[in-house]
Amino acid sequence: MRATYLLAFLAVLATALTASIALADGPHAPGVDPIEIDATIEQMQAAVADVRAGRRMQPKTWPGGARVAVCISFDIDNETLWRTNPIPALLSEGEYGAMEALPRILTMLDRYEIPATFYIPAMSAALHPQMIKDILQRKRHEIGVHGWVHEEPSSVGDRAKEEKALNDAIAYLTHEIGKRPVGYRAPSWDFSRYTLDLVQKAGFLYDSSLSAMDSPYELLAHGKPSGVVELPVNYILDDWPYYEPDATGSMPSPSAVYEVYKGEFDGAYNEGGLFVLTLHPHVSGHRSRIVVLDRILSHIKSKPDVWFATLEQVATYVKSQH
Ligand code: ZN
Repeated sequence: MRATYLLAFLAVLATALTASIALADGPHAPGVDPIEIDATIEQMQAAVADVRAGRRMQPKTWPGGARVAVCISFDIDNETLWRTNPIPALLSEGEYGAMEALPRILTMLDRYEIPATFYIPAMSAALHPQMIKDILQRKRHEIGVHGWVHEEPSSVGDRAKEEKALNDAIAYLTHEIGKRPVGYRAPSWDFSRYTLDLVQKAGFLYDSSLSAMDSPYELLAHGKPSGVVELPVNYILDDWPYYEPDATGSMPSPSAVYEVYKGEFDGAYNEGGLFVLTLHPHVSGHRSRIVVLDRILSHIKSKPDVWFATLEQVATYVKSQH
């Protein structure tokens, strides 16, 4: 019996070691080029040049003299997260986002009377058409693009295929919301070597997928200003890494997550910056976790001089100041 356990343990250890070696030195995603260990400095510079942080676009003040701009955003991935492994039990975890979580979240946002931004893969919306209707009915929220079926651009590996998925997603949302969306958030915040060019070509006002600064900034495409405003996200201000066993583990205490969000908000408030929170309805919309959203909104609302805005409003304002 002991020998069986030992063998099983060794098998798990071997799998883990293989996985970590693959991560460090394995095949790269088809949509990006690897940096070799004998790369020159010039090759390193060229390798990172597709998408870089350009000029900082932090305005001197926010509208109305506010100290901080607060964007509450939701990535409504739902069933599309399990695109490559659509097992009914897993799909139902995503389905929860439409059935229970989003209605609960919208009701809470109503109570605080604040706007929010929702990024929706077209297929998530197609499976639950009521979601967009319920969001639009509030008349103060923004809806942005989040892929056709939550395809991660770096895994697509083909410019034409990536562009078709993006254009199909834009066309679907344009039809459903009655106007062309101006904001892009890449599925899994993932860019390929083509993504910024495609975002630029599609005429997006802003992107919200990258993390190089706390402030809004302009994205550089191949070293040149792209005209695309980046409203940065960060995994610290996400719910996925804290709760999802698929990520790094499942944090048992929503209160600890609240403390992290609060620390980030207090810092943004003191500095006079931007606060972008990203939640997934099917992750944060559960009974024990929705309390975190309630507490952070209550904390933010207790402060004077806060500008609650959609990301579109922030990007438009930031651009007008430069
Ligand atoms: Zn997503």
